[in-house]
Parts: sequence; structure tokens; C-alpha cells
Amino acid sequence: MSDCLFCKIVKKEIPCDLVLESENYLAFKDIDPKAPIHILVIPKKHFEDITELSFQDLDLAAGLMEMVSKVAQSENLEKGFRVVLNTGPDAGQSVQHVHAHVLGGRSLTWPPG
Ligand code: AMP
Ligand code: ZN
Repeated sequence: MSDCLFCKIVKKEIPCDLVLESENYLAFKDIDPKAPIHILVIPKKHFEDITELSFQDLDLAAGLMEMVSKVAQSENLEKGFRVVLNTGPDAGQSVQHVHAHVLGGRSLTWPPG
């Protein structure tokens, strides 16, 4: 996916503020944070959205959540955090490469907008 922004970050063609990296995942700070802690966790392999990921590779989907937990631990989010996977136009997905938002560091309201 040569024109995918997050694939370019995976390939180090575009810099990111790295938080954690493993063989199959990358966690980096969101460029436009919506909370004191706002980190994106992505699989290095390109999938458009979570439906595609879960149909094609359940292990990779589970590993994404494991990476989310590691990020929450490393950021000391023991008071709580929110994981958001915006999927499709109604949810405002703006980057077509699976990414989990990890939001925390403040009290988060519910329901979201
Ligand atoms: P979404 O709108 O759910 O698709 O989320 C995409 C997120 O990517 C947004 O929160 C953006 O702020 C974030 N974003 C866009 N470009 C970059 C970048 N170069 N580095 C880090 N985060 C980015
Ligand atoms: Zn991609």
C-alpha cells in the first residue's frame, strides 16, 4: 500500500513519535491528541479496517489488543483508558489502515459524540 500514511510510518518513510514497537505492531503518539495520552496502535501489515483484519487474521487481531494492553501499562493508565477503532465513514475513519486509539490521562465522557 504505497500511498497509505501508516504504511509509510511502518517503513520509516514518515517519522512518528514512537511509544512501543514489536515484530508485528507499532504504537506511536497521535499527531492531534484528543486526551493527555492519545496513542495509536497499528498492525505493521496493511488492513483497511477491523472487519478485514478479523476476517483474515484472528491472531493478528488478538495481538493488536495485547499491544494495546502493553501501551496502557507503559503509560501507567491504571485508572482507566478507552480503546477506539473508528471504522468506516459514519465513525469518521480518516486513515484506511487499522488503528486502535488508546485514550487516557483524564476522565472520559460517555456516550462519545
Ligand atoms: P481516524 O480518524 O480514526 O482514522 O484516526 C486517524 C488518526 O491519525 C487521527 O487521530 C489523526 O490525528 C492521526 N494522524 C494522522 N496523521 C498522523 C501522523 N503523521 N502521525 C500520527 N498520527 C497521525
Ligand atoms: Zn497501510
